[in-house]
Amino acid sequence: MKAERSLADQHRQAVLDVLHDGGRLTRNQISQRVGVTRSTVSEVLSGLRDEGAVVIADSVRMPGRGRPAEVLSLDPSAARYMGIDFAHNRVLVLVTNASGHVIATDCRAYLPDQGWGARCAIAITLAEDFARSDLLHYRFLQGIAIGLPGPNSALWDSSVVAAPLEPYQQVGARVCELFGKRFGVGVWVDHHIRFAALGEATHPNASAEGNLLYLRLSLGVGGAIVTGGLPVRGEHQLGGEAGHVIVDRSDRARDCRCGRRGCLETLASVGGVLQSCRELGLGVYTIDAAAEAVRDNHTAALEVVNDVARVVGQVLGTAAVILDPAEIVLTGEVARLSVDFTARVAKALAGEVLPSVTIPVRLAHLGDEAGALGAVASLTTAFHPAQRTKEFAMSSLSPELHGR
Ligand SMILES: [Zn+2]
Repeated sequence: MKAERSLADQHRQAVLDVLHDGGRLTRNQISQRVGVTRSTVSEVLSGLRDEGAVVIADSVRMPGRGRPAEVLSLDPSAARYMGIDFAHNRVLVLVTNASGHVIATDCRAYLPDQGWGARCAIAITLAEDFARSDLLHYRFLQGIAIGLPGPNSALWDSSVVAAPLEPYQQVGARVCELFGKRFGVGVWVDHHIRFAALGEATHPNASAEGNLLYLRLSLGVGGAIVTGGLPVRGEHQLGGEAGHVIVDRSDRARDCRCGRRGCLETLASVGGVLQSCRELGLGVYTIDAAAEAVRDNHTAALEVVNDVARVVGQVLGTAAVILDPAEIVLTGEVARLSVDFTARVAKALAGEVLPSVTIPVRLAHLGDEAGALGAVASLTTAFHPAQRTKEFAMSSLSPELHGR
């Protein structure tokens, strides 16, 4: 992924990095630390100053020189990208500056029956509160990426109960329009699990060079594929939906919410695990109780963990033969059901992939912020938003949002 960045992009990042590490530096000092000519540094700085990412902090008189040298520094409060992660029950808003550092983040819960209009209003309030409290300003905001959960999780206006469920794409388009108008920048909307996967792929500790399979085993089972640093959306926006691979074709196959029977989700989701436990005579009603039974070496609980890990390994193994990922990342309550869950999945996986190949299986590095961080990563790596129209942006922002 890094190799594909242009030389100009690499110079730009190198200058931002030394300014972040070094604080306040002259052009000569930046040139020495980055190891490029002073004219290259001046060119990069000129662009960064136009963007508002770098400001002149001071000037110093150098010995033997007539003119004082300008001292430059990052404007750490200049918001550059905003990542928003909507889940079924909460929204998390995160803002980064030009050097890629998170400068503000906040999260707020909402009721599952609140419509998208109300959910968006909550997210906008969180983002505006950052600016009101002087944490940052949005004068040079470049783009917003927003992760949405699966299809039809809510109506736009929750009070209209008689209306048919809002189609997913229509919700996405309205969310896009709303935030675009409010902040005057390009907005990118995608599935929140795809963004979470991208967050993992771009995490500093990730071993993957932008190639991974991601699976969240939670209330539902959702997956994503990142290949060549880009999340795969697919023709029907369903790329990576491993939760709906059919794994049980027997008469006992369970009904799935997708309308079919025997999908991975019916076995490997929280509900699926609890149902399997109860079918084996273990009366557990929460995933924590199931995990406790696993720790107590309860036979039924161990059997369920073993079955779930095996079937997850088989599905991921089939996908891995086709996609050849560098690693597989698991997350969600079910993936943490036992300490050896990833090892069990890896064992089942090994039975599926070609003999010469070993694909590591690990738990996700990132927690709750994965989706929002991945959303920001989509703006910096894969998606280049259209240049903002300054006049429009300035006239549409409230005075507080203009910042200092
Ligand atoms: Zn299904």
